[in-house]
Amino acid sequence: MTDFRGQVDDPDIKATYAVDQSVATPPEGDFTLVRARDLADVVEVLTEAQARGIPVVPQGARSGRAGGAVAVEGGIVLNVMGLAGVSTVDDVEGIAVCGPGTVTADLKQAAAAHGLFYPPDPASVAFCSVGGNVATNAGGLCCVKYGVTADHVRGLQVVLAGGEVIRTGRHTAKGVAGLDLTGLFVGSEGTLGVVTEVVASLLPAPAPALTALATFDSLDAASRAIVALRRDPHRPSMAELLDAFSIKAVQQLGDYGFPSDCAAVLLVQSDRDGHTREDVQRYGDLLSTAGATEIAVADDPAEAEALMAGRRVVSTALEGHGARMVEDVCVPIARLTELVERSQSVCRSLGVEVAFSGHAGDGNLHPSLFFDAGDPASRERAEAAFGEIVDLALGMGGTITGEHGVGSLKAPWLRRELGDAEIQRQQRIKAVFDPAGILNPGRVYPPLAG
Ligand SMILES: Cc1cc2nc3c(=O)[nH]c(=O)nc-3n(C[C@H](O)[C@H](O)[C@H](O)COP(=O)(O)OP(=O)(O)OC[C@H]3O[C@@H](n4cnc5c(N)ncnc54)[C@H](O)[C@@H]3O)c2cc1C
Repeated sequence: MTDFRGQVDDPDIKATYAVDQSVATPPEGDFTLVRARDLADVVEVLTEAQARGIPVVPQGARSGRAGGAVAVEGGIVLNVMGLAGVSTVDDVEGIAVCGPGTVTADLKQAAAAHGLFYPPDPASVAFCSVGGNVATNAGGLCCVKYGVTADHVRGLQVVLAGGEVIRTGRHTAKGVAGLDLTGLFVGSEGTLGVVTEVVASLLPAPAPALTALATFDSLDAASRAIVALRRDPHRPSMAELLDAFSIKAVQQLGDYGFPSDCAAVLLVQSDRDGHTREDVQRYGDLLSTAGATEIAVADDPAEAEALMAGRRVVSTALEGHGARMVEDVCVPIARLTELVERSQSVCRSLGVEVAFSGHAGDGNLHPSLFFDAGDPASRERAEAAFGEIVDLALGMGGTITGEHGVGSLKAPWLRRELGDAEIQRQQRIKAVFDPAGILNPGRVYPPLAG
């Protein structure tokens, strides 16, 4: 194979680029790693790859949970973390322009330096990339009020298979010329093109948030409380759930201020300018009525920050407990209690240990299903629970993935959600941008029957 600019041949380095943060297994055989440094490197790879029919796996910070950035045998892993940096913050248009390898927290910080706010806030904000967020249409902690990444992207630069560089969308506040190709690329998980620049849209900075912590004596009570919270006319800027297992794991890492003797907590925030105190007090009353046993308001910024830090380390804390599969189903919020109860029952019957945490305010939970990595039967039981929870969510009118994407792990379920005719239609759209099918093959779209 051609030597590409930015190609890395050291096997130890390559091994670290073969995987993401999912349980998807890397290939046994070899692959090529290119760490692109600029647009020209990306163009070179995509031109050559199409000419020679070589699969390309676009890759950001490898924090993905769905196996979408895992290397494929004989393919090229095209990592774009080298295309980093915020080149523009325009406080009149309310936009920032940045490279796909910009770490999301850096974009948020660049906006904040101008008194502006880039809302997307995945729990991985400190290490995931803006390009990866665009490719997965990442969600996170703020979606309950601010929506997902798609709601904050105005335009993109994308390199297509074959090397053509295109621009989608706009820099202006409005624009309805032609089809919304930006919307098409956001969430396409590297199957349509490689994002090489992002025009993000920014909001005025909100007020510093106040946090209320509510404790519950059951997970179901906490889920019911979320339903009550959603009816409040002033939407919280965050509504996150942690069960007793997750709380204990977090507190074992350090004292993040979580109580030790409850079945679940909800962390609820308001960042409504001039109304944060009034909002969290009202949320507290509402949660008490819905069954919270205790409410504490963190009005000291240090305490509020400790709770948020605790929320952000849930994943690290649970990882300490052992190998796990992280679910990402999303159901209609009114059916959250049913999802929790039925998932608990599935896990009990299969003998799978489970921890619940996630973005309850969106109906999007991340049950962690633990297994013994050295015991194939244990892994099979966790896989069975994973599948049954996906089926449960679909049966409730939910989706197989709220924010992590389909990747390779959930491709087998896409047909259940969309049906063959819809998958065929989407594959025809993919072929417009990637006629030879070299971009992330086998990801998102399962092979069709017959
Ligand atoms: C601890 C932890 C917490 C997390 N919390 C959240 C959360 O709250 N919300 C959430 O949504 N996700 C969360 N995630 C998942 C993950 O961080 C997101 O999916 C994130 O958007 C992936 O970004 P990345 O840069 O790591 O992309 P990668 O993992 O490298 O890639 C993800 C997908 O995007 C594609 N891709 C990456 N960059 C590009 C590009 N420039 N052009 C085209 N395709 C590209 C890849 O092919 C792959 O399909 C979490 C993960 C971890 C480990």
